[in-house]
Amino acid sequence: TASAAPKNGSATPAPADVDDLIASILANAGSTPAARKGPDYVPGSKRCCWQPARSEDDPVDDIVSQALIRELGTKGRQASQPMPSAFAPTPVRDAEGMAPGDGVFATMDEAIAAAELAQRQYLFCSMAARKRFVEGIREVFLDETTLRRISEMAAEQTGMGNVAHKIIKNRLAAEKAPGVEDLTTDAETGDGGLTLVEYSPFGVIGAITPTTNPTETIICNSIGMLAAGNSAVFSPHPRATEVSLLAVKLINRKLAALGAPANLVVTVQKPSIDNTNAMMNHPKVRMLVATGGPGIVKAVMSTGKKAIGAGAGNPPVVVDETADIEKAAQDIVNGCSFDNNLPCIAEKEVIAVDQITDYLIACMQKCGAYLVTDPTVIAKLEALVINDKGGPQTSCVGKSAAYLLDKIGIRVGDEVKVILAELPKEHPFVQEELMMPILPVVRVPSVDDAIDLAVEVEHGNRHTAMMHSTNVRKLTKMAKLIQTTIFVKNGPSYAGIGVGGEGFATFTIAGPTGEGLTSAKSFARKRKCVMVEALNVR
Ligand code: NAD
Repeated sequence: TASAAPKNGSATPAPADVDDLIASILANAGSTPAARKGPDYVPGSKRCCWQPARSEDDPVDDIVSQALIRELGTKGRQASQPMPSAFAPTPVRDAEGMAPGDGVFATMDEAIAAAELAQRQYLFCSMAARKRFVEGIREVFLDETTLRRISEMAAEQTGMGNVAHKIIKNRLAAEKAPGVEDLTTDAETGDGGLTLVEYSPFGVIGAITPTTNPTETIICNSIGMLAAGNSAVFSPHPRATEVSLLAVKLINRKLAALGAPANLVVTVQKPSIDNTNAMMNHPKVRMLVATGGPGIVKAVMSTGKKAIGAGAGNPPVVVDETADIEKAAQDIVNGCSFDNNLPCIAEKEVIAVDQITDYLIACMQKCGAYLVTDPTVIAKLEALVINDKGGPQTSCVGKSAAYLLDKIGIRVGDEVKVILAELPKEHPFVQEELMMPILPVVRVPSVDDAIDLAVEVEHGNRHTAMMHSTNVRKLTKMAKLIQTTIFVKNGPSYAGIGVGGEGFATFTIAGPTGEGLTSAKSFARKRKCVMVEALNVR
């Protein structure tokens, strides 16, 4: 469960230690010399899975290999040069201690060129190899040492969230993001022959990742994008640079150990808005995936390219008079305080039916909610966390309830997980996506009013909503009216991404562009392959 939340910030490595950290993590992961040769390694040869076999008997194979040799010989690498390897000697570090290599490039142009070459090579890998590469990415991040280190680094560098919950989120991404099994094939046969409809890669995908889930998104997107046959260029949030670069390097080294083409997952040494813009406008990037706020979602949708926009949410939770109130209270406090309310799916406001509101508040107080009733304290809190533009103050995003209360002169222990206040619906705590464990409660006369208000404050994001009720008609009514990608009934919000609920995980929930829960097939195109008047065997 997501209860005990240790404090942030145990020792994390300085930037100069990133390469040493990777080396030690890989040593722990035990990559053997045999494994380094890769799954498709042929004894006595130096062939990787992506180097085309040259067969005397197979003219098609031969044509493909000749074409590839011509292609690779002229694009980026001379045929006589050795294949790129992530096991090349560690390059010299720059003044800030970061070393390029392992998928990290000095410029966006170089990163994209490398990813393009990698993707062309990847086209000729078998599905079995693809599957192993995806499993390899899972393995890297399921190593307990790695999980803890990247979770600590993310909390430390962004100054947001808590380590225990980031471990849960990173593990979830590695375990439950769908792989190649997601790419199902449709077949139709008849007198006209055989038609296959298959999921095929886009090519190079540009992925922009948020500061709130920096490594979770890289893990989840890498698994899905590579499973679908693409290469991925990441543009991380500048505030999460080091941990994002570490994630990319770990993936590259593992893929190299498995014999994959080099640079299937790349990024730049200094992520910035300029670099993100360069990536979005680069002609070789065929698809853009933005996981972040409304600005970046709008930016990718304005490029004229195929874009997936996974934007902001403001998830309401409705509680009616038929709910199990004690359980609802516990679920809401757990969901709202998960990673200090950073997840876009986390409960952001409670809408409760008058009849049970007092009891619900009392139950939440027993579960670690600190009730604020004094209007002057609420005003102080508002002055602290709301910025001049009426949005969340960045320095308060992802901070704990105890930290925020301390800033307004109220000392509480870590048992306090959520700050609770009964407020009118117009209050910015209700209307804005704060991403802090501040939970406004709005009291309404009936469940129908609660549903209407939930739809209103969700702002048409079509992101996430929760409802606690045993009235199936009202549950159905809310599901139909709110139209969110995720709708959790009688559970905490995180059940919607697979923590304690059934189903696969995703950290890119695309309401604005309509893909909804993204997985490997979201990063692929449907292509039709038609064999006329043959291969039907009925
Ligand atoms: P953000 O929008 O500030 O940044 C997201 C990414 O976009 C970062 O990499 C940032 O550098 C880049 N970016 C932002 N504006 C840009 C611009 N004008 N030009 C170029 N690049 C730009 O968001 P954040 O604070 O990192 O993350 C929190 C937001 O993301 C919240 O709104 C949250 O709901 C949303 N989010 C959504 C999902 C989802 O799946 N729908 C998942 C996680 C976070």
